Amino acid sequence: MSRSAPKGLPWPPKEGPWGQAGGGRRDAAARDRGDLRGFPRRPAPSARANTALLSTSKLVKVYRADGVAVEAVRGVDIEVAIGEFVAIMGPSGSGKSTLLHVLGGLEPATSGEIWLRGQRVDGLSTAGWAILRRRHVGFVFQFFNLLSNMTVADNVELPALLAGATSRQARKRREELLDELGIADKAGAAPARLSGGEQQRVALARALANEPSLLLADEPTGNLDSSNTRDVLRLLRRAHDRGQTILMVTHDARVASLADRVINLFDGMVADDTKIVPIPRGVNGVRDVLELRG
Ligand code: ADP
Ligand code: MG
Repeated sequence: MSRSAPKGLPWPPKEGPWGQAGGGRRDAAARDRGDLRGFPRRPAPSARANTALLSTSKLVKVYRADGVAVEAVRGVDIEVAIGEFVAIMGPSGSGKSTLLHVLGGLEPATSGEIWLRGQRVDGLSTAGWAILRRRHVGFVFQFFNLLSNMTVADNVELPALLAGATSRQARKRREELLDELGIADKAGAAPARLSGGEQQRVALARALANEPSLLLADEPTGNLDSSNTRDVLRLLRRAHDRGQTILMVTHDARVASLADRVINLFDGMVADDTKIVPIPRGVNGVRDVLELRG
């Protein structure tokens, strides 16, 4: 595979068309200290559309197989704010994976609208979606989809290289991610040699490699034991603290409890959409609560 990065793109991606809430780590630290000056305030209801990273209107996905129509997503309206961490739950077959695939442009919507930070994207071509994803979206598939003829290292470095990183930057990022996920020793291995849990962690590392504004993750802890789940959750929490927006399908209530909000799907529709009240952290916790309630 080519080791040279495409020229002319800033790395790491900063002010893409979708931007990132609050400008990153330093602001997250300031927020944790309770210093909310210069931090985006809760918007007035009329301004909500401007702060949504992702929203849908009457989104429908119908699969047609052998003349039979399967309505997998049936009129979903959701709005995800910049920097929000949303868990999607629901029984098997309720349309969770389909919704994620359509939101990431991996499957075309049948009807309805998808907006990404003010830009309507449901009509984009396959190539248009590919360009958007390369810069801005990380995707963790339920069944990993690792490239089998590449090493683990190359699987993780590829998205960063495609997004404009130099090979040195991509390698450094890959080393950090594999290290944090406890699989640094697998870098030279072929994905097929790894266990399901290891492949799942490689898939997450790959999705985070280009520091996407939006992470779409389909059951990223589905094959992990509790210690590996903790590693994955730490990484997701850090991505969230950096201002990345996360939409994550999960069956695990402990995983969902990390989110700001839980959306329950049933039969292709939103059955329930609940904000989780944050537990205040640190000595300034009370101030945070007052700020949230104010
Ligand atoms: P979940 O992820 O919640 O388990 P899915 O989104 O995978 O649900 O599936 C929702 C419905 O769509 C199911 O009835 C499933 O059988 C159907 N479905 C999913 N993918 C396809 C496909 N490629 N072709 C036809 N039907 C599909
Ligand atoms: Mg699924």
